[in-house]
Amino acid sequence: MGKCMIIGCGGVASVAIHKCCQNSEVFEGIMIASRTKSKCDALKEKLQPTTKTVIETAQVNADNVDELIALIEAYKPDVVLNLALPYQDLTIMDACLATKTHYVDTANYEPLDTAKFEYKWQWAYRERFEKAGITALLGSGFDPGVTGVFSAYAMKHEFDEINYIDILDCNGGDHGYPFATNFNPEINIREVSAKGSYIEDGKWIETEPMEIKRVYNFKGVGEKDMYLLHHEELESLALNIKGIKRIRFFMTFGQSYLTHLKCLENVGMTSIEPIMYEGKEIVPLQFLKAVLPDPASLGPRTVGKTNIGCIFRGKKDGKDKNYYLYNICDHQECYKEVGSQAISYTTGVPAMIGAMMIMTGKWNKAGVYNIEEFDPDPFMEALNKWGLPWEEDYNPVLVD
Ligand code: NDP
Repeated sequence: MGKCMIIGCGGVASVAIHKCCQNSEVFEGIMIASRTKSKCDALKEKLQPTTKTVIETAQVNADNVDELIALIEAYKPDVVLNLALPYQDLTIMDACLATKTHYVDTANYEPLDTAKFEYKWQWAYRERFEKAGITALLGSGFDPGVTGVFSAYAMKHEFDEINYIDILDCNGGDHGYPFATNFNPEINIREVSAKGSYIEDGKWIETEPMEIKRVYNFKGVGEKDMYLLHHEELESLALNIKGIKRIRFFMTFGQSYLTHLKCLENVGMTSIEPIMYEGKEIVPLQFLKAVLPDPASLGPRTVGKTNIGCIFRGKKDGKDKNYYLYNICDHQECYKEVGSQAISYTTGVPAMIGAMMIMTGKWNKAGVYNIEEFDPDPFMEALNKWGLPWEEDYNPVLVD
């Protein structure tokens, strides 16, 4: 069917690459291009004997638009799947525009110096992508990603209007370390140490970090403490889902994680303000990342399950209706299949599916779109087929 260039070769990319290689009918060729080429080569060596997908590798600095353009022009992919870091979103979008190549990512652009999760920078590309006749699919991970597809599916099949959405992200996994993050530590800590916020009646309401706590009993996991966080998909879902009055995002954290985080914050280790250290400028959070366990190393030692989904409340045929859509994923089963824990798995699988939607032409409109703006049905079908089956509950316990 076609060729995909994957940028980045970290935890999420590794899963997406495994999945592309299981799906050779669509992914006839992939190029893995990242900063450290040896990681790309190691993955190629492992996977090439197991797949018909032809794997190529390259070194690229994705902060450099000209380097990206040269690589895209040489390989001529149908789509570029950006699984590097949010800082690279705009340079990769620029390179896609210059070469008229479709673009997919899993996280919205963030400037290095402010931890602000907003779509405005990427939405500013709408007209240029439309004119170039290419698609940018934003946020094709789990959250954002599957949560948007779930919302579009609920809107299409279950509701006339959706008034309340609570996104619940539960990781019941245990890696045995007192403190480690399940994906890129820098991005993860920027996210959880930021102020919380949610949208009510069209307005953002801001909270202190971890100010709002609830307890929820998750199927497959059990009872967990969860905290309200700001999360990027709130911004696009509030615009794209009809009838929204309030939308919130909760994530579970264990006490050990929170105590460590508080201490690291108190001593200044989570700061993104550069400081001088022995004559060299360093960013404390980047230094912290260097001493924490590599998320990729958590796979073999993480046991337990994740449960991520959305509780919808709204109206159907004039009556009130509640509906919960979620996925349960087992860390050890993911590790057996692709050598990664469930956090990378639940992001890497939808990333592959997003690229597949564009390569197969199932999602085909020029411009810059969030995932809930496309027909959810083929994506929902693919989730069941490619390892993230979903479950539904018409009588869920609600979050107050
Ligand atoms: P990792 O840190 O494991 O991987 C990032 C990769 O990008 C590394 O291979 C890194 O190279 C490469 N990279 C970084 N900078 C550059 C650059 N300038 N040029 C080329 N390559 C570069 O991160 P994750 O895999 O955990 O996360 C990947 C993305 O997925 C992030 O944007 C994250 O926010 C997003 N994410 C989305 C989720 C969702 O549900 N939507 C959930 C989890 C993550 P090197 O190997 O040299 O370090």
